[in-house]
Amino acid sequence: MIPSIATVSISGTLPEKLEAIARAGYTAVEVFENDLLSFSGTVRDAGALAKSLGLTVVTLQPMRDVEGLDGRDRQRVMDHAERKFDLMEELGTSLMMVCSSVHPHSKPGLSRAVVDFSELAERAARRGIRVAYEALAWGRHVSDYRQAWEIVRTADQPNLGLVLDTFHIFSRGSDLEVIPFIPGDRIFLVQTADAPHLSMDHLSWSRHYRCFPGQGQMDIGRFMAAIEATGYNGYLSHEIFNDTFRMANPQQIARDGYRASQYLASMLSTSTVPHKQAIQSIGFIELSTPTEHYAATSKTLVALGFTHIGDHPHKPVERWAQGDINILVNRDPSFAKQWLGHDGLSVSALGVLLENAAAAEARATALGFQVIRPEACDASHQMTAIQGVDGTLTYLLDQAGIEALWSTEFPNSQAIPEDTMLETVDHISVSIPYEDYLSVVLQYRTVFDLDLSPAFDITDPRGLIQSQVLSGPTHGFRLAINGSHSPQTTANQLIRRRGGSGVQHIAFHSRALKHTAERLQASGAEVLAIPQNYYRDMAGKFGIDPDRAADMERLHILFDEDASGEFQQLYVVPEGGHFLFEVVQRDGYLGLGAANAYIRASAQQSRLKTVSEQSV
Ligand code: MG
Ligand code: MG
Repeated sequence: MIPSIATVSISGTLPEKLEAIARAGYTAVEVFENDLLSFSGTVRDAGALAKSLGLTVVTLQPMRDVEGLDGRDRQRVMDHAERKFDLMEELGTSLMMVCSSVHPHSKPGLSRAVVDFSELAERAARRGIRVAYEALAWGRHVSDYRQAWEIVRTADQPNLGLVLDTFHIFSRGSDLEVIPFIPGDRIFLVQTADAPHLSMDHLSWSRHYRCFPGQGQMDIGRFMAAIEATGYNGYLSHEIFNDTFRMANPQQIARDGYRASQYLASMLSTSTVPHKQAIQSIGFIELSTPTEHYAATSKTLVALGFTHIGDHPHKPVERWAQGDINILVNRDPSFAKQWLGHDGLSVSALGVLLENAAAAEARATALGFQVIRPEACDASHQMTAIQGVDGTLTYLLDQAGIEALWSTEFPNSQAIPEDTMLETVDHISVSIPYEDYLSVVLQYRTVFDLDLSPAFDITDPRGLIQSQVLSGPTHGFRLAINGSHSPQTTANQLIRRRGGSGVQHIAFHSRALKHTAERLQASGAEVLAIPQNYYRDMAGKFGIDPDRAADMERLHILFDEDASGEFQQLYVVPEGGHFLFEVVQRDGYLGLGAANAYIRASAQQSRLKTVSEQSV
C-alpha cells in the first residue's frame, strides 16, 4: 500500500502543504477542494507543482450530494460532475471521491442510488475517470460502508468503487466483518484517521477531533488486518480534520503523518519491522543540576532515602539509588542546555527498560523517529535514545544494557541499600506544549506497546490542562502527559521557565509515607504546602479520624480513595527545580490522584506567586 495524506490534514497554503508533504517522505497526496480553489495559480500550475515535488495526486476531494435527487437538482449534479472532471484532468488526477449525500432533497432507496451512480460512472468512464464512493457517518440515507458497498456492488461498473474511511466506520461502531469479503480491486481508496472516544454528534467529532493512527483510541490494527485480507494494494491515505493540526507547523504534522503511515505499514503481516514492546519500568532518571543547586539537591535526595552509591570515572555524574530506583545526578548542566535547551535543575533524560533495546531502536528508526546513537553525542556509554519532537531524551535499555551501564560507567558503585523507604518509580508526569501533545502521544504509542487512557481535564486556577495516562501492562510504567491551551496554567508556566517541555514531577512509591514525610520535614526540604481548608473537608469526606487528619495536615499529605483502595501523596519542591518530586503510598488504588490535581496546581500557583513577589 502506498502512503498518502490529504492536504486538509495540515496548515498553510497549497504550496506550503505540498512542500511539507513531499519533504516528509510522501509520494502521493489527496488535494482537498478548498486548497485548490484558494490557490492563486491555475489548476494546471497546481498539478505541475505537485508533480515537480514528486507527488502523485491521488484524488481531488470531495464531490458531494450526488444520489437521490430528482429533476433540476439531479441535472445540476451531473453538470457539476462534468466540470469537476475538467478540473481533475487539469490537476492530473483520475479518481473522483464522492461522499454520501446530506442533501435535504435526497431521497432514500437502493435502486435510485444505483441508477444515479451508474450514470455518474458512465459519464466518468468517457473521460477515463474512476469514481469512489464513501459512506459518511452522518450521511442522510447512506451512513455505513456496507450500504455504500451494496450500491457499488449492484451498480456493477468497472470504474465505480468504494472508499473506506476508518473514522466513519469506527465512529458508527460498524462491524468490520464484511470488509474481508469485499474484493480488493473494488476498493479504490482507503482513508485512515484515529480519534478519541467521545460522545458527540458525528460531524463535530470528525471535523475537530480526528488524529493520526496511534494518537486516538480506535482499533486501527483490526481494520488493517481486515483490509489486508481483501488483497487491497492501493493508497493508504490520512484524512485528518484536527483543530490543533490546523494551527501547527505543517512540517511537523506532515512528519508525524509519515511516521503514522509507517506505523500502519508495520501492522501488515509482510512487515519486517520489529513488534512494539511494553515498557517494563524506568531504568534510570537523569537530573541535570547546576552547581549552585547541587548541595540542596543532594540534601533532598538524602531526605528521600537515596544513597550516593557511585561516580562516573571521567564525568561529573553521580549515581544515587534505593530499591529499584536509580537517579543519575549530572553536575554538568551544559548537556541539558545543549540538547534540551533547559536551564536550571531539571530532568534531562529517562531510561526505559524493555525486553530488547536493539529491536526497539530498529522500530523507532523504521518509523522515522529521531534516534540519537551514542557516537552522535560523543558519549562513553552504549545507549541509544529517542529524541522526542519536544526535545526530551528517552534512552532504550534492556537488562543487558542496564547491567553494562552500571558496570562500565559506574564501575565502583556500592551495593544498593536494602530495606529502604522508596521502592519504585510510581509514575512520571510531563508537561508538553499543546501543539506538541499529539506528537508525543504518537511517539509513545507507535514505538512502544502502551495503553492510552481517555483524556480528562485538570482544572488549574488559570485554565484547563488536558491529561492522559500512558501505561504498560504491569503498571511498572505510567506516564501522565499534560498539555494546555491556556498560557498561565502551571503546565505552561513550567514549560516557559524551563525553556521546553519535560518532566513536571516524578512520583516514587513509599511503603510508609508518613515516615518519609517526617524525614523530609526534619531535613528542611520544602514540601508543597496544602491549604488547611483541604483537610477540613477531606476528613469528613473520607471518614478519617482526627489524629490521622491532623498528621496529614501537618505533613501536607493529600488523600484519595477509589473502589480498590487508598492513595496518599505529597510533593517536594527541590531548590531551583523546574519539577517536583512526588511521594505516594498506594494501597490498592489504581489512579494517579487526579482528584487532587486542582489542589496541587493551586498550591503551585500560589507558591510561584510568592516566589516571584519575593524576587522582585
Ligand atoms: Mg473520508
Ligand atoms: Mg502525580
